[in-house]
Amino acid sequence: MKKLIEGLQKFQSGYFRSHRELFEELSHGQHPRILFITCSDSRVDPNLITQADVGDIFVIRNAGNIIPPFGAANGGEGAAIEYAISALDIQQVIVCGHSHCGAMKGLLKLNSLQEKMPLVYDWLKHAEATRKLVKDNYSHLEGEELLEVTVAENVLTQLENLQTYPIIHSRLHQRNLTLHGWIYRIETGEVLEYDRASHDFIAPQSSIIDTEPEYSFHPNCNIPGSTPFKLPPTTTATTNGKNGHNGSALPGYEQFSAEQAQRIYRGSH
Ligand SMILES: [Zn+2]
Repeated sequence: MKKLIEGLQKFQSGYFRSHRELFEELSHGQHPRILFITCSDSRVDPNLITQADVGDIFVIRNAGNIIPPFGAANGGEGAAIEYAISALDIQQVIVCGHSHCGAMKGLLKLNSLQEKMPLVYDWLKHAEATRKLVKDNYSHLEGEELLEVTVAENVLTQLENLQTYPIIHSRLHQRNLTLHGWIYRIETGEVLEYDRASHDFIAPQSSIIDTEPEYSFHPNCNIPGSTPFKLPPTTTATTNGKNGHNGSALPGYEQFSAEQAQRIYRGSH
C-alpha cells in the first residue's frame, strides 16, 4: 500500500501537473477511439503496451478476456460494449489475450476448478467454445504449446462472441466497426495481431486502419472463398498429412511452420 500512496503523490505532483490541460479537457467528456478488451492479469497493461494516453482507450478487463455470448450473462461486459459502441461511437475493438494466461490454464483443467473455485468455474464456462475446440482439434499438443494455442483460439472465439451482440452485428453490417485480435507476449513485450488474410497471428502492420469487417474467425465456420486457417495444425490436419508442421526451432513458435515462425519471429511483413 505504501508504494501506491506514494504513487498517488508522485502522480499529482508530476504527471498530472505537466498534463493539466489534458485532464481539464477530459473533465468535459471522453472520446476514446478504441474499445480494448483484455485479461485482468496484472502483467498486462493496455495503456503501457500501446503507449496510449489517458482518454484514448475504453477498457474491459476480466479473467481470460472473455465476452459471454449475448444474453448468456448479466455481467458488466454487455453493458460496457453497448456503451462503448452506441454512446461513445467507438469503431475499433481489440480483444487482447496474452501468453501464460492463468485463466486459459484454468480452462484446460476446468473440472478441477469446480469445487475449489466455483465462481471461476462458472465464469470460464463462457469460454466453453474455446475449450471444446482446443480439446477436439489440438489433442496432440501439450504444455506451453497447448496453452499458446488456447490463448490464440480464445481470442478468436471471443471475437465471434462479440458478434452475437446486436449493436456489434449491426455496426459490422454498416461497415462502421472493425474487430482486431491481439496476443501480447509478456516475455518479449511484443504484440501479434490476427491477420484475416493469412489466418495467422503476425506482427501488426497497417491493418489497424483496415475497414473490412470480419465475420468469420474460425476455420470451422469458413465463409465461401475464405482462405484456410493457419494456426498450428490440428489433429486432423496432422493425421491426413496435409498440414504437418516441420518443427521450427525458434523458441515459443514451435507450433508454427518454419516459414510462419520465421515471419513472426522477425516481425517482418
Ligand atoms: Zn490472463
